[in-house]
Amino acid sequence: MIATLEINLDNIKKNWLYLNKISSEKTQTGVVLKANAYGLGVSKVGPTLWEAGARNFFVATIEEAIELNRYIPKNRKIYVLNGYSERHKRAVDNFSIIPVLNSPKQLSSFLNFHSQKKACLQIDVGMNRLGFQERELRECQQKIKSLNLDLIIGHLSCADDTNSPSNKLALQYFRAKTANLPRIKKSISASHGIFLGKSYNLDVTRPGIALYGGIRNQGLLEVITVQLPVLQTHEMNPGEGVGYGLTYTTKTKKRVATLFGGYADGIMRNLSQKGFVHYNGEPCPILGRVSMDLITVDISHLKTTPEKLTLLGKSQTINDLADQAETITHEILTSLGTRFSKSYKN
Ligand SMILES: *Cc1c(COP(=O)(O)O)cnc(C)c1O
Repeated sequence: MIATLEINLDNIKKNWLYLNKISSEKTQTGVVLKANAYGLGVSKVGPTLWEAGARNFFVATIEEAIELNRYIPKNRKIYVLNGYSERHKRAVDNFSIIPVLNSPKQLSSFLNFHSQKKACLQIDVGMNRLGFQERELRECQQKIKSLNLDLIIGHLSCADDTNSPSNKLALQYFRAKTANLPRIKKSISASHGIFLGKSYNLDVTRPGIALYGGIRNQGLLEVITVQLPVLQTHEMNPGEGVGYGLTYTTKTKKRVATLFGGYADGIMRNLSQKGFVHYNGEPCPILGRVSMDLITVDISHLKTTPEKLTLLGKSQTINDLADQAETITHEILTSLGTRFSKSYKN
């Protein structure tokens, strides 16, 4: 009676090796492990990818960096994407964590405390989210030259749209703004960027979601299986309703199953009336609203009453579920299954 989330570490490793293979020879394929490896467990995913050969790790916060350092203490680089503040001083000194400097203020503060330590610099290439803007780059030129600069990064805003003209513009801008630092390693591509072509690979890539199969039709393997247990079944007569608000009413007799797993487990509420679970490849539609802990699905067409149904697996992938929920696979993964029993397959 427990919901299970199985994570296939071997397929994560294969996805990383595949991304590495399709990238330029000189490109180092990095790894983004923010938000606890997209919710899948940094303590397992981190070492798995290190064994595969990854040496450049990116996380969002200093806390995530300190945690990752426990699992991969040596022979690696850990970059903190969200920036540097004085509060990070000790971690940078003790664990050789490399902050991504996103603004003049962060640059000055970093130089104050660690004039010799390795740093990474982010340039805003059009997203207006993090990174140095053109004027700031000019004004800080001298300070940037004095940095022990390890890597310069940019981040594409439209990489999931191969036809977007802003991809090329961002790459050109990034190249122009870093032309005066030819010997420093450069990185502009997250998962989608890798598939834009080799000119976007540069020296280091930063895939996250691709490691978990979160992009369609690109030769990536599925990583996640989620099974939800049936808690109870009900026979419904025509005209009866299901769930909060009775938003679904039966027209004919139906057999429905109540499963553990609701919006508190990442089964988003907007999957109400439109999401599916599967049994041996057969889709069973979600009826009525998704509750916090439960969903009700139609099993009238099944010959048996299953003990559990599949939310994610071969017949329905994270890409399918993201489409049903009108979101992206990143949100599916990071919301999923904090209450589920997690297991790892090697
Ligand atoms: C999250 C993030 C990535 C990874 O993105 P994916 O789409 O999961 O590959 C890479 N770079 C930066 C700066 C990010 O914030």
